Amino acid sequence: MINENQSSNSSSAIYIHIPFCEHICYYCDFNKVFLEGQPVDEYVNLLIKEMKLTANKTGVEPVDTVFVGGGTPTTLNESQIAKLCTAVQEIFSLKEGAEFSFEANPGDLSISKLQTMKDYGVNRISMGVQSFNNELLKKIGRIHTVKDVYQSVENMRTVGFENVSIDLIFSLPGQTEADFKDTLNQALALDLPHYSAYSLIIEPKTIFYNLMQKGKLFLPGQDAEANMYDLLLNEMEKHGRKQYEISNFAKEGFQSKHNITYWSNEHYYGFGAGAHGYIGNTRYSNFGPIKKYMEPLQENKLPIFQQKELTLKEKMEEEMFLGLRKVRGVDKMAFYQKFGQDLETIFPKAIQKTMEKGWLENNRENVALTRNGRFLGNNVFQEFL
Ligand code: SF4
Repeated sequence: MINENQSSNSSSAIYIHIPFCEHICYYCDFNKVFLEGQPVDEYVNLLIKEMKLTANKTGVEPVDTVFVGGGTPTTLNESQIAKLCTAVQEIFSLKEGAEFSFEANPGDLSISKLQTMKDYGVNRISMGVQSFNNELLKKIGRIHTVKDVYQSVENMRTVGFENVSIDLIFSLPGQTEADFKDTLNQALALDLPHYSAYSLIIEPKTIFYNLMQKGKLFLPGQDAEANMYDLLLNEMEKHGRKQYEISNFAKEGFQSKHNITYWSNEHYYGFGAGAHGYIGNTRYSNFGPIKKYMEPLQENKLPIFQQKELTLKEKMEEEMFLGLRKVRGVDKMAFYQKFGQDLETIFPKAIQKTMEKGWLENNRENVALTRNGRFLGNNVFQEFL
């Protein structure tokens, strides 16, 4: 249970979910709804109520990171953004130098919206670009164009956002290695401090999943996907964006502090429809459908759908499969300090097997994926479960 009045249960990271989108992308399985006709003002008010109710229950300490994700947070208008950001700072207060990120869609970032974000404390923008090929963007159901990307980057620079990241997706239907190389070149030419790149995963209940079931979706195949990932690692390295996680690359000092919280298996609050959180020993998730999320809050109750108290074994497993996503891997001393046990005595077989396959290296201070292991992350993580 999330206990009352125990400040040890509070967290230094906050995730806030804005589930509205102006369109639905063909690959997307996030918790989102079509924006039109949605009660956005009421949602923001209840989100703020959820933060207040939680803060009263768990106690609060100033936070290191806030991440507003979605859905599409930039579907909020300026007054909704101002209201939300003010509430976060009033309820939780941010530590000096805290990272305050907003996810954004290219095309939503007008100068005045960006200025509002900046005025209310946002200092990092993560933009879902996905590709620099207009045809591919159309094919995956995005409504922005490459021109919108360039305009948004220019607007961010005009307003003075320095800490900017873009997301890319590779192994898209019909995508060639040459096309991904071109996307990478254009992305890197923008000279941004942070890049994320993920291979397309076909999730159930998406438009792409239905097409695949009907034999109408043509993906590049495993070899091409591996080649694209190889290209990604090489190009990022060449351009001084150091890999710090399987899918993330940054200039020194620009790694996402918020996401490192997740991979370091640390606590965080999750607010909003379908959001997940981890406080004390409990992982919890909120109701996903907007109406179901809002109803309990209208009666001053938390909208928690399910929660699970983790056993020590589960916590140690999570420490491994989350921590191994980081290039620096899992620190042995930190593991010992957290759990009072030595990770090599808990996972001897998994370590031996993945080392034999050349996927893992066991150093004096840490265990970490090898470069080959990064291509096969999920196979490695499974060994630790
Ligand atoms: S990918 Fe992003 S913009 Fe597209 S539907 Fe999903 S949440 Fe909305």
